[in-house]
Amino acid sequence: MPISAPEPLLSVAGLSAGYGKITVLHDVSLTIRPGEIVALLGPNGAGKTTLLCAVSGLLPWTGTVHFGGADLAGLSPRETARRGLVHVVEGHRVFTQLSVADNLLLAGYDVPRGERAARVDEALSHFPEIAAKRADKAGALSGGQQQMLAVAQGLVRRPRLLMLDEPSAGLSPVLVDRVLAVAAALRANGTAVLLVEQLIEKALRLADRVYALAQGRIVLEAATSEDDLPHRLERAYFGHDVPTALHG
Ligand code: ATP
Repeated sequence: MPISAPEPLLSVAGLSAGYGKITVLHDVSLTIRPGEIVALLGPNGAGKTTLLCAVSGLLPWTGTVHFGGADLAGLSPRETARRGLVHVVEGHRVFTQLSVADNLLLAGYDVPRGERAARVDEALSHFPEIAAKRADKAGALSGGQQQMLAVAQGLVRRPRLLMLDEPSAGLSPVLVDRVLAVAAALRANGTAVLLVEQLIEKALRLADRVYALAQGRIVLEAATSEDDLPHRLERAYFGHDVPTALHG
C-alpha cells in the first residue's frame, strides 16, 4: 500500500487579497503539512506580508483557506490564533514598559490560567538570553532580544502553525541562526512553520519546501532538495536568468 502524505494543515486555494480597490494577491494557492517548514520567498513588494496577513485574518480575502480541516472564512486574527495559527508580524513591537514575563503572560491571555506560567517557561526555554532577563522591562532588551521576545510571544500560544515574517530583519548573524534554530526545534515537535525571509540561502537550508511569490502570484513551488533551485528562483523572481544574484 502506498504511503500517502499527511493531510495539509493549511490549505489556501484561489486566494485574492489587497488594500481597498488594489488587488495585491491573485489566485494564490499553497499548502503546508504538519511539521513542515515552508519558506515563502520573493522580491520586495511581491505580496508576502499581505499573504500572511490575509491567512491570519488581518486582511480580508476571497478564495478558500482551510486550517486543521476548518474553514477560516470571516475569522478574526484572534479566532485564527485560538485555532493555533499564530502570526508573528513583521517588525512586531513588544510592550517596553512591561517585564519580559508579563509580555509573555499577556500573549497567553486566553491560555487557561493554571497553564500560563508553564507556557511562559516553555517559550523562554528556546531563548536562554531573554530567559535570564524575565524580570527586566522589555525596553531594556536589545533590539535583537526584543525580536526574540516577539517570537516567544507567539510560542506561548503553542502554535500548530507559526508564521514568521522576516524574523531575521535587524538581527546579527548569530541571532538569525538562533531564531532559525528555534524553527527547526519546533518542526521536530511537529509544529509547522511558514517563514518569510530575505536571507534566501539560510531559508533554503532550513526549509522543506519553498514557494516564490512575484507580483502577487505564486511563480514557483519546489522541494528544497530539488536541483538547481537558486537558478529556478532567479528566473521565478525576475522572469529571466540573472547570473550570480543568488549565489556565492
Ligand atoms: P517586503 O519584502 O518589502 O516586505 P512583501 O513581499 O512582503 O514585500 P507586501 O508588503 O505584501 O510585500 O506588499 C505588496 C504590495 O502591497 C506592495 O505593492 C505594497 O506597496 C502594497 N501594500 C502593502 N501594504 C499596503 C497598504 N497598507 N496599503 C496599500 N498598499 C499596500
